[in-house]
Formats: sequence, structure tokens, C-alpha cells
Amino acid sequence: MQTQPTASHFIGGEYVEDTAGKPIDVIYPATGEVIGRVHSATPAIVDRALEAARGAQAAWAAMTGTERGRILRRAADIMRERNHELSVLETYDTGKPYQETSVADATSGADALEYFGGMAATLTGEHIQLGEDWVYTRREPLGVCVGIGAWNYPTQIASWKGAPALACGNTMVFKPSETTPLCALKVAEILHEAGAPAGVYNVVQGLGDVGAALVSDARVDKVSLTGSVPTGRKVYAAAAAEMKHVTMELGGKSPMIVFDDADIENAVSGAILGNFYSSGQVCSNGTRVFVQKGIKEAFLARLSERLGQAVIGDPQDPATSFGPMVSARQMEIVQGYIAKGQDEGARLVCGGNRLQRDGFFLEPTVFADVTDGMTIAREEIFGPVMAVLDFEDEGDVMARANDTEFGLAAGVFTRDLARAHRVAAGFEAGTCYINTYNDAPVEAPFGGVKASGVGRENSKAAIEHYSQVKSVYVRMGDLEAPF
Ligand code: NAD
Repeated sequence: MQTQPTASHFIGGEYVEDTAGKPIDVIYPATGEVIGRVHSATPAIVDRALEAARGAQAAWAAMTGTERGRILRRAADIMRERNHELSVLETYDTGKPYQETSVADATSGADALEYFGGMAATLTGEHIQLGEDWVYTRREPLGVCVGIGAWNYPTQIASWKGAPALACGNTMVFKPSETTPLCALKVAEILHEAGAPAGVYNVVQGLGDVGAALVSDARVDKVSLTGSVPTGRKVYAAAAAEMKHVTMELGGKSPMIVFDDADIENAVSGAILGNFYSSGQVCSNGTRVFVQKGIKEAFLARLSERLGQAVIGDPQDPATSFGPMVSARQMEIVQGYIAKGQDEGARLVCGGNRLQRDGFFLEPTVFADVTDGMTIAREEIFGPVMAVLDFEDEGDVMARANDTEFGLAAGVFTRDLARAHRVAAGFEAGTCYINTYNDAPVEAPFGGVKASGVGRENSKAAIEHYSQVKSVYVRMGDLEAPF
């Protein structure tokens, strides 16, 4: 692979290696072959990255927003120019089909760099007049931000965290998932090439212990995690011990409601996008598909037909539309859930098997007649497994849709406008969809409620999570005191 990064870490504007760190093999999910190796960060590497970020922060924050923004926008341009090679690398890192990575990963990272690059020059405080006296506010960076990523969108996550952090004048140390260590290094390389000074954006490798070391370090001011709820609880607690800012982008078990007046073809498209894109490894997936009884069989029949058209195979082939799971471990976890679905009495409509070929391929799987208490309706599976549940009416389905600890996303398919908006208002979720599913444009806030997270990524909302406001009181006349 020509595009492979040349060392494990990127610190202070250069690739850095320390082979004393525990080796982490990079496995191509489509074949199971080892295609690379990085080394987990040793304490010396963690220290070096944090020192680099700390050392670079004041000068980076002192640049004008226009200057910082120009660098981010230049990085966006480079990312788009290299979309093909970055997409090939993303496919090696994750196993996701090139058909997806070429339109959803570096492109989405570039969108974030461009959007926050454009916004950097517009970040201001405000003026508050108090008679003759006045207060002004300064929007200031937080300092050093740590980003910790999941394995499903390595380029996107590294960019979605880096772009707003850097736009606000922070520096970043990013730790990718140990399962997909390669792509974030390319983000660092590109930012550096675009003119980001050494130390502004650093990448270190490692498992949870490296993440934990970063989170608890006193030099860190903010932590943004994309990961599972159990990890989120640990990271949030560690950050709270030192009163650090956090953004938590965590898991979900999101509902998608299909009313009997919906356009069935669109609803099936939504269910496919919300369950099988990236082989189901998407946090906001609508994995509890509630279908109103009258159209249930028609919906299932059309869904099975459409799933038969999935092109499963070599993810580097642009014709492939469905790839492997990211790892053997993730595949086994999902197989466990499929077995549980069968044991607990759900009806397997299609899929359910591992493919007889190298790599970690599972068939797109649909269960029907799923009931609310079943494990596959309660726990996040994070694989290509859809649970279809029946419902009678709106009142019944809303209570059931919200009966979950999660609250990341939710969707509704109906032709009834008033009902669509009423249902969206009633959802306990951070991101809702009407007659669509899983869009995530940089212009719109993205994040969860309940156990699914804290804070928002993307949009103007992200600025609040990467900056803080200082109030400065100014008295124009004499100051009186009681004595
Ligand atoms: P994970 O929680 O196992 O790991 C996430 C990251 O946290 C990894 O980089 C890991 O090394 C690190 N980590 C683990 N323990 C840590 C600790 N104690 N301290 C600091 N860091 C630690 O998640 P995963 O399996 O990589 O990803 C899948 C999960 O991510 C799913 O639950 C999915 O829903 C969620 N996810 C959420 C979003 C979102 O935006 N809401 C996006 C993608 C994935």
C-alpha cells in the first residue's frame, strides 16, 4: 500500500516511532491479512505529544481567525484532491466499501475543515452596555483538547473533532481506535502540509490505557470521545475528576417508525441506509424498525427483495455495496446477537450467516416479530442486524420508541406532515429524521441525549464545546465602596 503512513505517531509536525510500545497489527477486514503494524504510545510518547500540543497552543490562538481558517480550508482542499488514495486507505483500515469511503469519509472530513475554516474568522464575543459602564466577552479557546475515536469513521472522526477545535484556537492530541490506526495520521499529515504549525494537531496510537492516560493528564483541558456508552462513562468520570470539558458521542439503539401511509420504497431505503450502510457499524442507525401492522408484510417482502441486490465482496471494487465487519471480534459479537435473536423467538427473515470466504463478512440480517423485551431490541449490536417490530398506533409506538436508555437518533416515515413533526417533537433523541435517515451534514448539530451523549458536534453548536466565554467588566466612572 503506497499510502501507508510511515510511522505510528505524528507529533510536533513529524512522524515519530517508538518501537518500545506494544505492537498493534493492522488487519484488513476483507481478508484477515495483517497489512501494517503500529506501536502503542509509551508514556514518553504521550508526554511528547502533550508537550507539543501545549507548546504550540498560545501561538496558534494568537493567530487571527482568518489565518487559522485559511489553513483549515487549505487542508480541506488537499483532502479532496487526495480523496481517492484516502478512500483506498480508509477501506483498508475499516473494510468499508470504496463505494462508500469515496463519498463519505475524506469528503466529510473535508467538509468539516472547510466549514470550521470558514467560521474561524467569525468567532467573536459580544458587547453588553450597562448604562455608561459595559461588559465585553471574549471567546477564548479551552487549551489542549484530546480526541478519542471509534473505528467506524476514522478520517471523519479525526476531522470532526480537529476542525472545530483548531478553528477556536485549541491544539489537539488525537488517539484513533486501535482497530483503525491509519487514517488519522493522514489527517495530521495534511493539516501540517496545509500550514498548521508543528504541535497543533498530533496523533498517538494505543488502546484504552493510552486514552485513559491522556484523559487524566493535567495538561489536557477538554476531552471529546466517540465510542461506546461504557467507555463514555469511564472517560466522563475521569474528566469530571479534574473538571475538564467533555463531548461524548456514544452508542444508540435508535427507533425508526414506518406508518402505513408511508411511501414503502422510501421507507425501505431508509431502513437499508439506517441498518446496512458500513455493514451496520453506524452509531445513529435506526435498528428498531417499528412498522405499522397493515403494511408489515409488504415492507418485509420489498426489503428482502432489495437486500438480495446487495453486492457483497471485495470492498476495493467500486461495484461492491456491502463489506465485512471491521474485525473478527466485532463479527463474533454480532454473531452472538444473531443467535440470541433466534433463541429468544424472533423470526429470521433473511441473512444470519457468516459468508464462506476470507474476511469478516456477515450477511445483512433481518429479524421480524421482534418484541420490546428481546435482547436484540434493547442492546446496541453495531452490525448488520435489523429488528422489525409491529405497532398499532402512534400513541403506542411513541412510548415504545422512547423506552430505551439511549437517545442518539430517531426517524419517522409518513406522508402526514402534521404527524411527522409531532412525532419528531416527541422523540427523545438528539438527531431526528423525517422521510430520510442517517444524513449528517456538517451544517447541522449532531449528538445524543440520555446515555447517548453530551454536547454536539458539527454546526455552530460545536463552537460552544471548543471555546469558553470570558466576561470583562469595564467601569467608566469612579468606583464607590462601603468603607
Ligand atoms: P469503544 O468505546 O470500545 O472505544 C472507543 C475509543 O475509546 C477507542 O479509541 C478506545 O481505545 C478508547 N478507550 C477505551 N477505553 C478507554 C478509557 N478507559 N479511557 C479512554 N479511552 C478509552 O468503542 P468502539 O468499539 O471503538 O466503537 C463503537 C462504539 O462507538 C459504538 O457504541 C458506537 O455507537 C459508538 N460510536 C458513536 C458515534 C457517535 O457519534 N455518537 C460515532 C461512531 C461510533
